[in-house]
Amino acid sequence: MTVLLRGGFVLPLTEGTRPLQADVLISGTRVAEIGAIGTKADETVDVSGCVLMAGLVQTHVHLVQTIFRGLAEDMALLDWLRARVWPLEAALDEASLRASVRLGIAELLLGGTTTILDMGTTHHGDVVAEELIRSGIRARFGQAMMDTGEGVPPGLVETTRASLDASAALVKRWAKAASGRVGYVYAPRFALSCSRGLLEAVTTLSKMNGLLVHTHSNENVDERTAVQNATGRTPIGYLVDVGIASERTIVAHGVHLDDQEIEMLRATRTSIAHCPSSNLKLGSGIAQVARLRSAKITVGIGADGAACNNSLDGFAEVRLATLLARVVSGLGTLSAVDALGMATHEGARMLQLADEVGTLEVGKRADIVVLDLARLDGPAGDAVTRVVFGGGSRAVRDVLVDGEFLVRNGALTKMDAAEVRAKAAEQLGPLLERAHLA
Ligand SMILES: [Zn+2]
Repeated sequence: MTVLLRGGFVLPLTEGTRPLQADVLISGTRVAEIGAIGTKADETVDVSGCVLMAGLVQTHVHLVQTIFRGLAEDMALLDWLRARVWPLEAALDEASLRASVRLGIAELLLGGTTTILDMGTTHHGDVVAEELIRSGIRARFGQAMMDTGEGVPPGLVETTRASLDASAALVKRWAKAASGRVGYVYAPRFALSCSRGLLEAVTTLSKMNGLLVHTHSNENVDERTAVQNATGRTPIGYLVDVGIASERTIVAHGVHLDDQEIEMLRATRTSIAHCPSSNLKLGSGIAQVARLRSAKITVGIGADGAACNNSLDGFAEVRLATLLARVVSGLGTLSAVDALGMATHEGARMLQLADEVGTLEVGKRADIVVLDLARLDGPAGDAVTRVVFGGGSRAVRDVLVDGEFLVRNGALTKMDAAEVRAKAAEQLGPLLERAHLA
């Protein structure tokens, strides 16, 4: 099967390649040719007036929390977790969790995100996997691990053994699923919900199985202090001690880091997922992204969950990332194109997918977003500026993953958006009752 996207404006987002007017030929799951293409394809799609770029890579999301949108307002991190998010996660059954995951995937695809790293919750990892595979999105996902912690409801806390066994079963089933499009990662939630033994076991297992690790750290001042009180180390110092800090690990947030911790992240090649909206909304703070990048730390972008954002719009996170850096570190420290790079090729690098996705070039997977610039109003300005500052998600017309259209002319091809929303709405009442929040 070949698809020819004809007449678009291509943003390769590769180093040293300038945007160009070109056709893109997709053969099977990969980009076969970029340029003036005369040959015929099985299907030709007119993309004139559109920008073509690699799909966004979001390196920190919580699909299971999509249904919690609007239910956890005006609280700081630890209260937000204990009073709302954890009780709600504990109350998710298979049907409500599935509905939440589908709602999240639908929103991500419609907004131009083609790859995600998901944290999950402590149960129903199989359901998350099934829906990721069914949807066509590219994903690395984990089942959150929690074997301790103040305020963790009984429905979420597990024994260390049970947590490790559950992950082992998920590794067996999903380590490399859907021809590698979906894969498993270890997801110890954060230092305050994981015993030292659990974290050390994850280090050993992730090395042994060659799998990534996804966790949260240095998000908020109180959490930072609590980790220091519990471990006698700074949060990153502790992650170094237990072996989690490594090139296999993606740490969400990294807002409150001291100089030594930044040096530790650099030395261990640990990467950071920057979640600007979430950090602002929970009043956590602003990550020093430009500083981290100049220390050669890989930084990606994530919307985090709908319970703390409340949108999953990757382009909005890109916009906010560059805006914040201008104020925090100065104009020119994180340009629009650099921020877009964080949400594409840098994210891909963190997920060890840089050979496959993150740029639009020959040989890579055909994970492509087609943006109709006419929807952004006003013809002036270069394509990157228009997309980043103009609200890129509004312009998303088509989205392909592995050469398959998952969004076409603004509509999902494998899901019925209205049905997905209705199913989620149906689940909400019973969920709130089970969580005793009704
Ligand atoms: Zn998170």
